[in-house]
Amino acid sequence: MSESEPEEQIESTNEQNESASLIDMHVTTATGTDASQARGQSVVEARDLDVHYGDEQALKSVQLDIYEQEVTAIIGPSGCGKSTFLRCINRMNDLVESASIDGKLRFRGTDMYGDKIDPVALRRHIGMVFQHPNPFPKSIYDNVAYGLRVQGRTVTDEIVADALKRAALWDEVNDQLHTSALNLSGGQQQRLCIARAIAVDPDVLLMDEPASALDPIATSKIEDLIKELASEYTVIIVTHNMQQAARISDRTAVFLTGGELVEVDDTATIFNDPNDQRVEDYITGKFG
Ligand code: ADP
Repeated sequence: MSESEPEEQIESTNEQNESASLIDMHVTTATGTDASQARGQSVVEARDLDVHYGDEQALKSVQLDIYEQEVTAIIGPSGCGKSTFLRCINRMNDLVESASIDGKLRFRGTDMYGDKIDPVALRRHIGMVFQHPNPFPKSIYDNVAYGLRVQGRTVTDEIVADALKRAALWDEVNDQLHTSALNLSGGQQQRLCIARAIAVDPDVLLMDEPASALDPIATSKIEDLIKELASEYTVIIVTHNMQQAARISDRTAVFLTGGELVEVDDTATIFNDPNDQRVEDYITGKFG
């Protein structure tokens, strides 16, 4: 261990604390408002957002507002940048060496890519659920408690039970909390992953095709759950399933090849009366 290491660690810890408080300050302000007032406020704002992987452009000058306590669906053909957009919102693209991001992405008015922002602090407010259920090889209880423990927060049976109830899984698992999560069905595992994400009480839930690996009954349960979660969280869901977007989202953003956001509007407008001919062609299955 070099002699300079302890000092560097202290500096970086201080910087992280400062970044965390920068994010926390904004969240406290927003959650301090009445829920009915909060609905309709923008939580995430993308302005001229460009993403490249090496020379290849994945997102092109995206302007998009994501609103409080709404479900926003991101749809579009494969490779149009849907997952890239989602991954920018919790800074997962930081982990991709070839990825470069230009333009602005703000979370409650704070520049998410500002020099002092700590991605770990940011991710406390922005949970993510992936396409394939990915419970840890631990008990159901320990999966739900995981994020709280990582954050050094108190774990109580009540908090674990509450997260499982909010994820519509409690009734099915309350007598087997200390058995392996890997014994659950795929649909149950995905609801457990949702419970794990919401146990730490995030502000925004990102979902990347969360039902595409599930059967129709499990999919329907996940869709019902997402609609319920929107009363407490801001949900952004990437889906290739247009019927699903139509069923569960308040607003829909349509990305097309080249990483362009072509149209965003109320879901009913996008599906019944879109402005852009390319959106109509995509919705009606003429391509994609
Ligand atoms: P979608 O979610 O709409 O299918 P993606 O965001 O996954 O689209 O991908 C958009 C474009 O970026 C595609 O051309 C894809 O090949 C490319 N891409 C995505 N991830 C990476 C990566 N880690 N490295 C290089 N290129 C990538």
